Amino acid sequence: MQPIDLPSPNHAARPADTPIDILVLHYTELPLAESLAILRDDARPQRVSAHYVLDLDGALYRLVPEERVAWHAGRSHWRGRDGLNATSIGIEIVNLHGDLHDYPSRQIAALIELCHEIVARHPAIVPRNVVGHSDIAPKRKIDPGRRFPWATLARSGIGLWPRGTCLKLEGDMQAALRRFGYPPAVDVATSDIVAAFQRRFRPSLVGGIADDETRMLLADLLDQVDALRPA
Ligand SMILES: [Zn+2]
Repeated sequence: MQPIDLPSPNHAARPADTPIDILVLHYTELPLAESLAILRDDARPQRVSAHYVLDLDGALYRLVPEERVAWHAGRSHWRGRDGLNATSIGIEIVNLHGDLHDYPSRQIAALIELCHEIVARHPAIVPRNVVGHSDIAPKRKIDPGRRFPWATLARSGIGLWPRGTCLKLEGDMQAALRRFGYPPAVDVATSDIVAAFQRRFRPSLVGGIADDETRMLLADLLDQVDALRPA
């Protein structure tokens, strides 16, 4: 894809010898012009940015080169690591509220193409490391929202989706969520992390209760990541 370059001053150097291995998806919560203005503003008390902004019609804007750190994740955690800006790429997808508004198919088609290109450039971004902001910052963030089509992305090979098996989750829910990648229940309750998981993998019912279906979905996903693990 040929992005339109609109450089942002908000970026930093990557740490040395650390691969880019996480892809974080966001929604902007604001229309394109306002989003671009904020993500390119260096006078705000909290400067923010993202590598890419993807408009509703699939037009793509590049704000920060992938080899630099953009400031999109904030306080965040995945698979035992904090502060994920250093090792991630962030895409802001224009949508005013991903719980309320569907993502247009043109936008999602463009997103899938972009994700494939990013993963090809950074093979350390394995499927389980394609995450939503809500996965890595439970309770604090809800983007990309319940209407984000994770299943469509997974069918195209981007990220994971439960296969509909009826596996039984062994052991404690919190420990299993952590094994998949979710943060420990330190600043937030376990129910907040269960809700983040449901928001991503069972958006029809996000209550934070670790019911049988939730446990089954998590067992399926853990089985997938175990199978994907290199021998
Ligand atoms: Zn976000």
